Amino acid sequence: MSAHYDLHSHSFASDGSLSPAELVTAAHAGGVDVLALTDHDTTAGIAEAAQCAGRLGLQLVPGVEISVSWQSQTIHVLGLGIDPACEVLQAGLSGLREFRNWRAEEIGRRFARAGIPGCFEGARKLARGSIVGRTHFAHHLVAAGHAASVRQVFKRFLVNNKPGYVSGNWASLEDSLNWINGAGGLAVVAHPARYRMTASKLRRLLNEFQECGGLGMEVISGSHTRDNIITMAALCRNQGMLASCGSDYHGPENPWIKLGQLPELPTGCPPVWESDHWSAAEPAH
Ligand code: AMP
Ligand code: MN
Ligand code: MN
Ligand code: MN
Repeated sequence: MSAHYDLHSHSFASDGSLSPAELVTAAHAGGVDVLALTDHDTTAGIAEAAQCAGRLGLQLVPGVEISVSWQSQTIHVLGLGIDPACEVLQAGLSGLREFRNWRAEEIGRRFARAGIPGCFEGARKLARGSIVGRTHFAHHLVAAGHAASVRQVFKRFLVNNKPGYVSGNWASLEDSLNWINGAGGLAVVAHPARYRMTASKLRRLLNEFQECGGLGMEVISGSHTRDNIITMAALCRNQGMLASCGSDYHGPENPWIKLGQLPELPTGCPPVWESDHWSAAEPAH
């Protein structure tokens, strides 16, 4: 039987709800053989995840999900198999986290202006020492009774033109690729069907991504519908890209995304892990 790959997941080092060790344990229990930990703009969870993976005999792929601004939109680029010790990568990520820290306070100020004070403090509590992201704000607002669900908070407050939205000032596409490739990783466009781009704009993004040295795209993603998968598979083949699959798991509070339940990559989509550029998986200890 072929190994089960899940190459996109989050711990509470960013906006996931499980610790790195809990995440790896849950992935192992779900039948995942190869797991990438890809927290937003940080590699802080990787050491703990790798240690736990070693104990369980699961292969942990050190990864990161980099926030990128491209044509006034936020895009997510995964670095798979990066060396977390790479200084160029870490300097880049640290700049993004600085922006995140400022943005979190700014989001708090905007909520206060909109008549909802104390959000930054509430979100910071939920982040437990990690960088405060929009997900933490969303969970705080639900807990404080301002919305019924995280999804609703995003819709009403945290997206473009809403009171708690602060536009991103993230990495350029080129920088993100230089950091990932410089750290020996393989770059993958995360959940490409989620950007609500026209087909031609998405092709432009992928073309530019490839010109900058990017190789892969997620065909299978926890946030792709069945139709999305078919469309993305065709795009992947047409662009001559490598295909990746990841749940984008953030924790058990999203019961519609489970670990170890991803469908197989469609035929004709070459998996990232079969490429010559795949040096990603650390050997199981
Ligand atoms: P940030 O990187 O802090 O701007 O937050 C982005 C994260 O928010 C994503 O990685 C998701 O985890 C979460 N997110 C974005 N949009 C939504 C949404 N509509 N509903 C629920 N979670 C979302
Ligand atoms: Mn997230
Ligand atoms: Mn993402
Ligand atoms: Mn993600």
